[in-house]
Amino acid sequence: PTLQTLDRILQSQGFGTRRECQYLIETEQVQVNGETIDSYREKLNPTGYQLTIAGEAWPYQEKAYVALYKLADYECSTKPKHYPSVMNLLPVPLRQREVQPVGRLDADTTGLLLFTDDGQFIHRCTSPKKMVPKVYEVITKHPLTEAMAQQLLNGVVLNDDPDTVCAHAADIKDECCLHLTITEGKYHQVKRMLAAVSNRVEQLKRIAIGQFVMPPDWAPGSWHWLTPEQLTQIE
Ligand code: URA
Repeated sequence: PTLQTLDRILQSQGFGTRRECQYLIETEQVQVNGETIDSYREKLNPTGYQLTIAGEAWPYQEKAYVALYKLADYECSTKPKHYPSVMNLLPVPLRQREVQPVGRLDADTTGLLLFTDDGQFIHRCTSPKKMVPKVYEVITKHPLTEAMAQQLLNGVVLNDDPDTVCAHAADIKDECCLHLTITEGKYHQVKRMLAAVSNRVEQLKRIAIGQFVMPPDWAPGSWHWLTPEQLTQIE
């Protein structure tokens, strides 16, 4: 990372225009590692900085990687039609630095959704070639059978799609609860896979991406920075 003035550093972190960031500094609303800085003349290396902006702590992150426990009734689209955008569940600085969802979940799907402003990371996570497994907890309308699980593993044909898709794993957890692991991300894939075995998805929650399992203590709707260790579990 190159040396930058503090106003540019704040701008890169989503705290507004350069002028707005200068104002935050001039009005002594910015602390770096606990010390108030009222000038933006000096060039700094922000790596490892702990920033405090208007009383709120923000670690400096060259790229932002965050995870959200998505709620139902939020759309992943940037132009949502029926519900608010998932972006509304993120704090303003993350929205201003233009993080994007890594893949998509349906409006009625809950659970683990990642965001970043690192385009290469998005590509690596969503490219079909990389086969990053995603685990879904599926609540079904009809009781599950071993035959259904076997069919999902062997491969099913989705409507209007010539290729068969196979589940990577299909573990029946309860009469109407299945943990389904898939490596692609086709449109409504889990719902269509369950429909292909004459069942129906009633509730869908993503519980893991790669080796990263959503921690059980996360509250629905909460967002979290991903640690470097969690990032290595994802890819
Ligand atoms: N499969 C679906 O059908 N919906 C999702 O949101 C994710 C996977």
